[in-house]
Amino acid sequence: MFKAILIEKDDAGYRAGVTELAEDRLPAGDVTVRVDYSTLNYKDGLAITGKGPVVRSFPMVPGIDLAGTVETSAHPAYQPGDQVVLNGWGVGETHWGGLAQKARVKGDWLVPLQAPFTPAQAMAIGTAGYTAMLCVLALEKNGVTPEKGEVLVTGAAGGVGSVAVAVLAKLGYCVAASTGRPQEAEYLKSLGAAEIIDRASLSGPGKPLAKERWAAAIDSVGSHTLANVCAAMRYGGVVAACGLAQGMDFPASVAPFILRGVTLAGVDSVYRPRDQRLEAWKRLAHDLDVSKLDVLTTRIGLEQVVEIAGQLLDGRVRGRVVVDVNS
Ligand code: NDP
Repeated sequence: MFKAILIEKDDAGYRAGVTELAEDRLPAGDVTVRVDYSTLNYKDGLAITGKGPVVRSFPMVPGIDLAGTVETSAHPAYQPGDQVVLNGWGVGETHWGGLAQKARVKGDWLVPLQAPFTPAQAMAIGTAGYTAMLCVLALEKNGVTPEKGEVLVTGAAGGVGSVAVAVLAKLGYCVAASTGRPQEAEYLKSLGAAEIIDRASLSGPGKPLAKERWAAAIDSVGSHTLANVCAAMRYGGVVAACGLAQGMDFPASVAPFILRGVTLAGVDSVYRPRDQRLEAWKRLAHDLDVSKLDVLTTRIGLEQVVEIAGQLLDGRVRGRVVVDVNS
C-alpha cells in the first residue's frame, strides 16, 4: 500500500483527499518510482480543486512533477536506485502522477536528477521553474542579452515568476518584477529584482501601443497583462508567454508586432522534446543560485496539499511549494 492524493468525480461530486492505495492499482508503465518529493504548480491547483478541466480521467492521482528513486525498471536507460525527475507529459492529468509515494510511468518521460540538485531542490524548481528556464532560453534564442535593456517578469511572486526573476538576475539582467502583492517587494528584491511594478498598471484594458519600456518579458499571466506587455515592448523586443493566471484571452492588436518588430514566443513545457528538457535542467544547474531556491520554497506534507492548492489558485502562495510525500 502507498499514500496518495486521489481525485474522484462521481454522483457524490468532485473531491480530492489523502488515501491509501494498493500497488496493483498503479497504471501501466515500464518504470516504478519511489517518490521522494513532489510539488504544487498552478495546474495541480486546478486539478485538485476542479476549477479547471485538467484531469481527463477519474479516479486520478494528481501531480505533474515528481522526483524519486527507481524501484523497478524494464527501460534500458534506468536501473533500480537511479534518481530521476519527471515534469509533464500529461502525468497528473491523464496518467497517475507524483502526489503519491509511488508512481509507475514511461521511462521515456523521465530525466536523470540533475547535479547538484537534491530531489527536494529539483521539486522546488519543478515544472514552474523548468518553464521559467525555457522562457529564458526562448529570450536568448531570439537575441536578448542583458545589454539590450530591462526585462519584465509578470506574476513575479508566483512559481514561474520567482524562478524567472532569480535566473535573470544571476545572468546579469536588470529585472522589473510585476506583482499584485506589494508586501512581497523585499522578497522579490532578495531574488534579484531591481524594480517592482504594481500589476494593476498592466492588468486593465490598454492601448494598441504604449511607451516603449522593456527589452524583453516573461509572462505567466496572459489576458490584458500580456497585451499591455506586448504594447510596451521596445523596438525589436521579445516576450516569452507561458501562462494564464489572469486569463486565457489575449485582447491585443497586431501593432507591436508589425510596427515595432516585437516577437511573441510561446512556451510549452509539457510535451517539450527530451533534448530541450535536458538543456533547460543543465542551464538551471548553472544559472540558478541554490541559496535563492531556499528563499522561494515552502515545504508541506501530503495532508496539507488540498488546502494549499486552493490558496495557490487564489494567488496567496509565494514562490514554490515542495511536497514531502513521506511526511
Ligand atoms: P502561481 O500561482 O505560483 O503564480 C501565478 C502568479 O500570477 C501569482 O502568484 C500572481 O503573482 C499572478 N496572478 C494570479 N492571479 C492573477 C490575476 N488575476 N491577474 C494578474 N496576475 C495574477 O502559478 P505558477 O507560477 O505555477 O504558474 C503560472 C502560470 O504559468 C499558470 O497560468 C500556469 O498554468 C502557467 N504555466 C504554464 C506552463 C507551460 O508549459 N506553458 C508550465 C508552468 C506554468 P503576483 O502575486 O506576484 O501578482
